[in-house]
Amino acid sequence: MKDIVFEKNVSLKEYTTFKVGGPAKYFFAAKNKDELASALQLAKEKKLDVFVFGGGSNLLMSDKGFKGLVVKIEISGMEFSDSKAVVGGGVCLSKFANAVGKNGFTGFEWAIGIPQATVGGAVYGNAQAFGFRISDNIELVEVFDRKTFKLKTFSKEQCKFTLKNSAFKKNKNLIVISVVFNLQKGNEAEIKENVAKFLKHRKQSHPLNFPSAGSVFVNPEKKGQVTPAGFLIEKAGLKGKKIGNAQISEKHANFIINLGGAKAKDVLALIRLAQKKVKENSKINLETEIQQIGF
Ligand SMILES: Cc1cc2nc3c(=O)[nH]c(=O)nc-3n(C[C@H](O)[C@H](O)[C@H](O)COP(=O)(O)OP(=O)(O)OC[C@H]3O[C@@H](n4cnc5c(N)ncnc54)[C@H](O)[C@@H]3O)c2cc1C
Repeated sequence: MKDIVFEKNVSLKEYTTFKVGGPAKYFFAAKNKDELASALQLAKEKKLDVFVFGGGSNLLMSDKGFKGLVVKIEISGMEFSDSKAVVGGGVCLSKFANAVGKNGFTGFEWAIGIPQATVGGAVYGNAQAFGFRISDNIELVEVFDRKTFKLKTFSKEQCKFTLKNSAFKKNKNLIVISVVFNLQKGNEAEIKENVAKFLKHRKQSHPLNFPSAGSVFVNPEKKGQVTPAGFLIEKAGLKGKKIGNAQISEKHANFIINLGGAKAKDVLALIRLAQKKVKENSKINLETEIQQIGF
């Protein structure tokens, strides 16, 4: 076990794309598995609650912050072979997606432009866009089980991927350390064309000028039919609704934006309002996609 030191009272706001939330009592950035194991061992000895995160692009931190240890996964590494890539859980998803294209492979163009997200965070929530899911290309996922302190390798089947869900979301003890992806060779011009098309779409439909955490709600699925949550929120008359300095985006109703200095409690109030109104209006329960900590 390595000797490690936790930072104290670290503002978590700076580590999230939402720019909302209070401090972590203890904070540690793990650069490899050994550091991760040592940090978790120390937290166990100190009887601290632990929260693990990656890029902070899908998080709502409470205004009170988190009283235990927050571990940021910064495990790097990216290796390409003929038809595969092995990537660290802390690698930026967008950078990896760019590298996939540069190495002549296709299938990750959809992930370019998602800010700050890590490969581990994307696997946890089965990130997706434009009809592609990260699970499409997964062969193996290496995890650290913080209950047993053992490393395990999950086959794609064992990952139990469904819409915005995985075995890692269901069992929070499992921390994604690295991922093996299967890759297919692509045509350079087509890859470039796809990237440009998807980036244009993001720019046109997402409120990228304000801090946010991406889609707030999972698009509800019934009998294989997916309804965009943004459509339901708009139908409930909530597009543009403000509470404090948080607002349901005028551009895309499944985004809540921080107009500057928004509080987590304001974001939460908008989440609850959207859930209530959509339930009344469309008889559908909206489930949050963004992960809430410290509430
Ligand atoms: C502008 C914008 C656009 C976005 N567009 C998309 C999009 O097109 N498609 C999409 O799917 N999402 C999108 N998102 C949401 C977000 O980027 C994804 O959900 C992303 O996969 C989250 O990764 P992260 O590393 O930031 O996770 P975090 O926000 O750090 O954490 C999210 C959850 O993942 C868990 N987690 C993180 N790392 C690990 C790990 N190594 N092991 C186990 N659990 C872990 C955390 O505990 C937490 O519960 C967007 C967000 C923004 C701000």
